[in-house]
Amino acid sequence: MRMRSPVLRLAAWLCACGVALPLLARAQGPANRSAPAPPPPAAAGAAAGTAGPGPGAGAGTPAVVALKAARLFDGRSDRWVRNGVVVTAGGKIQAVGVGAAIPPGAQVIDLGDVTLLPGFIDCHTHLSFEASDDYNRDALNRLRRGVAEAAIRATANARHTLMAGFTTVRDLGSAEFIDVGLRNAIRDGVIPGPRMLVAVHMLGARGGHADGGGWAFKRVGEEPGIDRGIASGPEQFRDAVRFAVKYGADVIKVGATGGVLSLSDEVDTPQVTQAEMDAIVDEAHRLHKRAAAHAHGATGAKEAIRAGIDSIEHGSFLDDEGLRLMKERGTFLVPTLLAGEYASGRVVPRHYPPEIAAKAAAAVAQRSATFRHALELGVKIAFGTDSAVSPHGLNAKEFALLVAHGMTPAAALRTAMGAAADLLGLAGQIGTLEAGKQADVIAVPGDPLADVTVTERVSFVMKGGQIWKAGGVEK
Ligand SMILES: [Zn+2]
Repeated sequence: MRMRSPVLRLAAWLCACGVALPLLARAQGPANRSAPAPPPPAAAGAAAGTAGPGPGAGAGTPAVVALKAARLFDGRSDRWVRNGVVVTAGGKIQAVGVGAAIPPGAQVIDLGDVTLLPGFIDCHTHLSFEASDDYNRDALNRLRRGVAEAAIRATANARHTLMAGFTTVRDLGSAEFIDVGLRNAIRDGVIPGPRMLVAVHMLGARGGHADGGGWAFKRVGEEPGIDRGIASGPEQFRDAVRFAVKYGADVIKVGATGGVLSLSDEVDTPQVTQAEMDAIVDEAHRLHKRAAAHAHGATGAKEAIRAGIDSIEHGSFLDDEGLRLMKERGTFLVPTLLAGEYASGRVVPRHYPPEIAAKAAAAVAQRSATFRHALELGVKIAFGTDSAVSPHGLNAKEFALLVAHGMTPAAALRTAMGAAADLLGLAGQIGTLEAGKQADVIAVPGDPLADVTVTERVSFVMKGGQIWKAGGVEK
């Protein structure tokens, strides 16, 4: 591993994606490690415009806030209740329900004809990246932009995501440790954004989805190694896991199969061996990290499932055997339906190289039937969008797709609540409106169980007791 001097490196961002991201990189010091646990709360006084989001916010005793609304969906049942109240103090939920007692002196905020919900959780984002309708232009932009520019743009992506009601994300692949910096800056109250669990980069095989191929040899940098997640053999992959964790990973991400937006692989080919996958998952779990596998093809996905992976991302070509294995083992599927809509050009026509367009078409043609079969079998589903493939801040559009594919609105909502919290290992802290959990509370107009698309118009956002959006206006 050569980590000394700045070199032009290719870094892959990918998932459904896979475009090379060359940036000037250099080794960073030991990362500012952070536990994935929610950060300390800032003052709730932001509601009254008294508490800024700066590093000093949160000092002193936060106010007690009582949120009132026409409806409340706590994420624990299939129904909402009328005239819901959520009392928050010290960044945590103190009481929830119709009869929740409002302590004397509490700041009461009546949000009116809205539905209160737990903050949404997206289990698959890439806040460091952006995609447009033009593949080659995006590739050129990534060549032109330096680390600082990419990081600054990422802060805007984080803000959009938070304002859309997503108070926690699992970010499954970045470059140049931008995700680590972003997570830490958000945690410290320097910039607004969702609570983040980060992967640093995707691990994978040479020439595979994580490798960011498609360029002539050394034309855009050195051949990547473990410091970029590319390894060979079980022992190297163990080291790659250790490297990612050393530099800040909360979760390990592996490219089990080819991807849609990568130029040098086929979408359904397996990309690491069973022995390599076993080593990756075992090492991640030994270090108390969850592991997620990008997988379109059935063979690679099943190898990951057999290795004990915690979630399959995308899962486009999963077969009956693979889905039954997931059901049996409790493996989550993160279907990223929204990514398929965008990558296939259904939302906005996309200008892709022909081999990419063909892979996108093949994946999206199969993924709906696969997802419906997963639902029939009772496979656990967690919410994920692969945002960057779709614009940041439109994450909630995934809900309508889940409902269109057969989920009830309540079940679809819960994929971004308790199910997602469970996948992230944070079920005791986020995911439902319950006393003792983080005060992550959002509001949507109308009734999301009657029309799930109201989730696309989040009007109120509180994260860890701090209010970031009220009356549709961002702080
Ligand atoms: Zn992805």
